[in-house]
Amino acid sequence: MNKQGLAKHTQAHDGRIPWLIIGAGPTGLGAARQLERCGCHDWLLLDAGTQPGGLAASFSDAKDFVWDIGGHVLFSHYDYFDQAMDEALTKDNWLSHRRESWIWMRDRFIPYPLQNNIHRLPPDDLNHCLQGLVDITRSPRPAPKNFKEWLEATFGPGLMDVFLQPYNFKVWAHQPEALNAKWVGERVAVTDLGKTLKRLVYQTDDSTWGPNNTFQFPRHGGTGSIWKACANRLPPDQILLNTRVAKLDIGRHIVTTTDGREFGYDRLISTMPLDDCLRISDQARFASLAEHGLLFSSSHIIGLGLQGKPRPDVAGKCWMYFPEDNCPFYRATVFSNYSPNNVPDINRYWSLMLEVSESQNRPVDSACVLEDVIQGALNTKLIERREDLVTTWHYRAGHGYPTPGLQRDEALAEIIPFLEQQDVYSRGRFGLWKYEVSNQDHSFMQGVELVERLVNGRKEITAFDADHANAVKHPWPFARWGNS
Ligand SMILES: Cc1cc2nc3c(=O)[nH]c(=O)nc-3n(C[C@H](O)[C@H](O)[C@H](O)COP(=O)(O)OP(=O)(O)OC[C@H]3O[C@@H](n4cnc5c(N)ncnc54)[C@H](O)[C@@H]3O)c2cc1C
Repeated sequence: MNKQGLAKHTQAHDGRIPWLIIGAGPTGLGAARQLERCGCHDWLLLDAGTQPGGLAASFSDAKDFVWDIGGHVLFSHYDYFDQAMDEALTKDNWLSHRRESWIWMRDRFIPYPLQNNIHRLPPDDLNHCLQGLVDITRSPRPAPKNFKEWLEATFGPGLMDVFLQPYNFKVWAHQPEALNAKWVGERVAVTDLGKTLKRLVYQTDDSTWGPNNTFQFPRHGGTGSIWKACANRLPPDQILLNTRVAKLDIGRHIVTTTDGREFGYDRLISTMPLDDCLRISDQARFASLAEHGLLFSSSHIIGLGLQGKPRPDVAGKCWMYFPEDNCPFYRATVFSNYSPNNVPDINRYWSLMLEVSESQNRPVDSACVLEDVIQGALNTKLIERREDLVTTWHYRAGHGYPTPGLQRDEALAEIIPFLEQQDVYSRGRFGLWKYEVSNQDHSFMQGVELVERLVNGRKEITAFDADHANAVKHPWPFARWGNS
């Protein structure tokens, strides 16, 4: 880090920093990049971590295995994001993959999503699912009040019992009735009974559904290498790592770091979790709204580095879902398939990354989770022998998934405008708490679009119109902005 730059900014208390950013994840880096492009060079970015990337960072362990915080698949709804990615890594540094996503249940692999491939189920389960699908066509249900009701109305009781209820609880660590029904959008495949019957008769699979049926991954360094490269394109003395914000004085426009440094600002772009932001700024008035509106789950990521090769039926897969209770994880990624460089020698090793969700409703004992995951990997036949393990890795993300809870939108509608009146703009996966727009492309664009709004008066789309953000691939500038 450039000492002159640091000295300049630690003295900025009187002469406020025009743009202060908290967080060097995709959102903060998107904001910084767009500030530079708009000619606003007087910004400073603070991050508590040792490297840029936030939840999209990667880590190398002592045995040279590379790990992400859960299998990160890069998908883009935006031309702007594509350009930024092309700029970050050269063409040679990207690998392209066709999605191979599967479900392991009833001792077999079934292509994802299950609702499109129920013909692969054993007869009793198949019958139960089909009965449910017929029921819902016979007796349409009233508008759903929550995600559980939406699932029941859309898929019927059979699919709910067989897969959707257990799987969703495992992923969210909250019961589906605690989630709202509005976030769903493109993220859950709906079923067409006619097509389901045709696939049953002809025994054909549907594995093409979804927004991310092809994806790109960095050749070296995991997902985090993207965000390191993005950060490296910005002035280094304006990004202060190892700098945790401990206090936010909203009225006086000052943040204080854990080591006592103070930074005055004109505008604060905060990408730290919104509940933490309210806590460090002593906004007790929002305590109850935040407690009930800002539900979340934590994510345990377990990496298993193995010698040899995966079993043939695991070898070609990207990721797999696990709804049953014979393992604690809901998803496993064959991470060595994303890049051979995720393991030290692809001819000798392979790697798996497994995700376990945690909340007060689904407690996880950190001390036991590694062992439980290994046992689960054996139970589900993902790995054959414990002796093949050459390394293990465990990472706990306190804030992992922002739950789209029933009272979330109500809470955001009060908190976000209040903060904005005080020149605090909270954006990003946990800054805005909108799961439906919280992937890397969305988060990055939230940062970009916020700057466009504040500098050029343009309307933010990703943050406030998730359906439109997810509906099309967006040109740059956005079509909705017209010539403004
Ligand atoms: C298990 C899992 C799987 C995922 N899979 C995918 C996927 O397949 N595809 C995809 O596109 N996305 C995926 N994501 C989402 C992706 O990680 C996020 O979109 C992205 O990281 C969000 O960026 P952000 O900048 O909003 O927040 P973050 O990445 O959380 O960054 C916030 C930053 O703020 C910093 N910070 C927090 N508090 C403070 C403080 N007090 N002081 C200073 N700094 C602070 C943190 O250190 C962090 O660097 C996944 C996430 C998880 C958890």
